[in-house]
Amino acid sequence: MKIGELFRYMKPTLHRKLIWSIGLFMVVMSGCSMNNWEVTETQNLSIHYKKGSYADRNIQEAKRVYENSFMVAEQFLPSINKYPKVKVFLYEKLKNKGFSKVKDREVHYRYSEEFRLTSVHEMLHVFLYELNSQAPLRVEEGVCRIKEGKRKKFKGQYYQIMYYQLVKLVPEERWTLDEVFQDKYKDDDEGNIAAAFMMYAINKIGEKRFWDFYQGLDKNNWQAMLKQCFGQEASVIDKEFKAFVKTIPDPPEAFKYKYSKKTAYLHK
Ligand SMILES: [Zn+2]
Repeated sequence: MKIGELFRYMKPTLHRKLIWSIGLFMVVMSGCSMNNWEVTETQNLSIHYKKGSYADRNIQEAKRVYENSFMVAEQFLPSINKYPKVKVFLYEKLKNKGFSKVKDREVHYRYSEEFRLTSVHEMLHVFLYELNSQAPLRVEEGVCRIKEGKRKKFKGQYYQIMYYQLVKLVPEERWTLDEVFQDKYKDDDEGNIAAAFMMYAINKIGEKRFWDFYQGLDKNNWQAMLKQCFGQEASVIDKEFKAFVKTIPDPPEAFKYKYSKKTAYLHK
């Protein structure tokens, strides 16, 4: 029997009830097809997690740490949009540990027993994109890294550094403006050179002028913007930047060895 024929045999009220139930059923089903996310709200965030996951068992802690990351981003930036709320997605397993979808205002983090990424970095990507979607990608990445640090266990001891310090592990000939103002970004070395430049820039012209500089950038105008906001030619700033990097303390030996099967014994 076709659905249409079924309706014809029913009383009008039953007919209506059935349509409502089918509608309700479809709404519930479409909720399920969104990967079964549970959602909890904080003041500024919608936090998505899976039932029974580490995040579910520690949801109060998760709400606290991600609200805190949001506040750090808010204090650092000249302005942010609060709505629509940023969506935070928490995973037991996530290959890259964290990523953002700036256009959808989403940040995705691994949040598990073994590893919990609570960095401000991914949220900064969302807000920086809204502050100036035309800024070169590597500049955006550099700003995201300023507030970020790294912890490492090496030969039985823990060490902590800031990301911009890792610029010291990149050959000196790459400490240049040409490496910073690129609209493509692929590895940590590039991000850390850019982070060091943002540190230099904030130290030199102060936060307020730094944000004017950032908001005025497009993909190609960096030399003119440097002149306008720093009051110097790019070639002069290039030399000063190199001298600034030399004053950054070297990271401890622990950070000179990338993890591999051969070096695994050092990282215990
Ligand atoms: Zn990034």
